[in-house]
Amino acid sequence: MKVLKFGGTSVGSVQNMANVKSIINDGEKKIVVLSAMSGTTNQLVTIAEEIKNGNVEEAQNRVAELEKGYEVTVDSLLSDAALNEDVKAYVSKVFAFLNECTNETFSENLENRIVAQGELLSTYMFNSFLNQEGVSSALLPALDFMRIDAFKEPNLDYIKEQLNAVLNVAEDAQIYITQGFICLDDNDNISNLQRGGSDYTATIIGAAIKAEEVQIWTDIDGMHNNDPRYVENTHPISNLSFDEAAELAYFGAKILHPQTVTPVRADHIPVRLKNTMDPEAHGTLISSTTSENGIKAIAAKDGITAIKIKSARMLQAHGFLKKVFEIFETHKTSIDMITTSEVAVSLTIDDDRNLEAILAELDKIATIEVDKNQSIVCLVGHSVVNHQDTYKLFQILQDVKIRMISYGGSKNNISLLIDSKDKINTLQKLNDYLFELVTL
Ligand code: ADP
Ligand code: ASP
Ligand code: MG
Repeated sequence: MKVLKFGGTSVGSVQNMANVKSIINDGEKKIVVLSAMSGTTNQLVTIAEEIKNGNVEEAQNRVAELEKGYEVTVDSLLSDAALNEDVKAYVSKVFAFLNECTNETFSENLENRIVAQGELLSTYMFNSFLNQEGVSSALLPALDFMRIDAFKEPNLDYIKEQLNAVLNVAEDAQIYITQGFICLDDNDNISNLQRGGSDYTATIIGAAIKAEEVQIWTDIDGMHNNDPRYVENTHPISNLSFDEAAELAYFGAKILHPQTVTPVRADHIPVRLKNTMDPEAHGTLISSTTSENGIKAIAAKDGITAIKIKSARMLQAHGFLKKVFEIFETHKTSIDMITTSEVAVSLTIDDDRNLEAILAELDKIATIEVDKNQSIVCLVGHSVVNHQDTYKLFQILQDVKIRMISYGGSKNNISLLIDSKDKINTLQKLNDYLFELVTL
C-alpha cells in the first residue's frame, strides 16, 4: 500500500480538494495523510498567542473569523444537504471548543489542543467530500495510533500495533484518510510533530505499514536545487539519495520536515515529491540510489546563533571540549556546526531557549562571544567534498563574509555560516555560478 500526503495548499481550496480527489481515486487502496487547510495552523497559533498574552477578546474575534471562512468552504464543497449539515455541525463543535479555550489559562497543553483542530477539520471535510462523490473512504483518527515518547520520538511499536487495529476495523474502505501533524504524547495528551509535521506523519505511517512508497504532494514540482522563495532560476532535482534529502531537509529546505526521511531510510521505502497542481510533472524521487557526484542543491537555515568559546586553558587541556558539550547536553540543546582552533571552539545552535543559562555556565570556564541572526548555508551532493568543481566555491564566495565553514564532516555536505542579511545574495551567487548559469 502507498501513503500519500497532501499539504496545506493541496487542501487549501475547494478546487484543490477536487484535484486531490482525482489524484487519489485510481482504484488502489491507500492511506491519505492531510495537513490543515493552508493558513489555518498559523491562525490557530496566533489564537493561542493571544490567549497567552491575555487578549481574550482578540482571540475570540479570530476564532469567529476563522469559523466564517470554514462555513463558506463547507457550502461550496458539499452540495449534498445531509453531508453539508453533518459537517457544519462538526465545524460548529470545533469552534465552540476553540471558544471555550479562549477562557482557559494558557499552557503548552492548551496550545497543542488548539493547533490540532486544523487537521481535524480538513480531514473531516475531505472525507465527507469523498463520500459525496461516491468514493469509498474511511477516517482513521490519528490520535488512535500516532504517539511520541518522552524524547518526542515516534513510538513505532505502539504505532504499528494500533494502526493495524484501526485499519482492520475499516477494512472495506478503499481510501483511508488521516490527520498529519497531530499525535499523543507519552502522557496521553494531544501533541504534535512540530510545524510542517504532516510530512513526518506520512513517513512514520510508511515505516509502520512497510509501505511500497510514500508520496508527498505539495505546491511545487519537487525538491529544487535552491530555495525558490529567494532565488531565481531554480530547477527541480529528479533524484536524491536519502542522505542528500536528509541534509537538505535538516538544513532548511522547507518542502520537507527535517525528520521526514528518518523513519523510511532503513527500510529503503522511496519517498516521491509531487505537485498537486501539476500531477504529470516528474517531481523528485528520494531513494537509496545515489546518482552523479558534485553539488546538487543548496539550502539555508535561519535563526542560528553562533557561540565562540575561547579559553587559554584549552591549549593542550584534555577534557575542555567535553566540559563544553556537557553544558549543552544539560540544557538539552543540540549543536549544528562546530569548528575548532588551538584556543577556541565555535559552534552553532538553532534553539536558543536556554541560551542565557548555557552562557552563564560557559562563562565560568571561558571567554564567550555570541552572534545572533546567522544562517547556515548548506551545499549538498553525493561526495561533494571530493568533487573537482567544489574548489569554485571558494572563488565564488570571495566577497562573502564567512563566519564558519564545515567541510568533511560528511562527504555529502559543506556548510557555511554567514550573517542572515547576506543570505539571499549568497544563495543567488552560488546558484548562478555553481549551476553554471554564469561562468567564472
Ligand atoms: P505543504 O504545505 O505542502 O507542506 P510547504 O510550504 O511546507 O508545503 O513546502 C513547499 C514549499 O517549500 C514550496 O512552495 C517552496 O516555496 C518551499 N521550498 C523551500 N525550499 C525548497 C526547495 N529547495 N525546493 C522546493 N521547494 C522549496
Ligand atoms: N498544519 C501543520 C503546519 O502548518 C502541519 C503541516 O502542514 O505539515 O505546520
Ligand atoms: Mg510542509
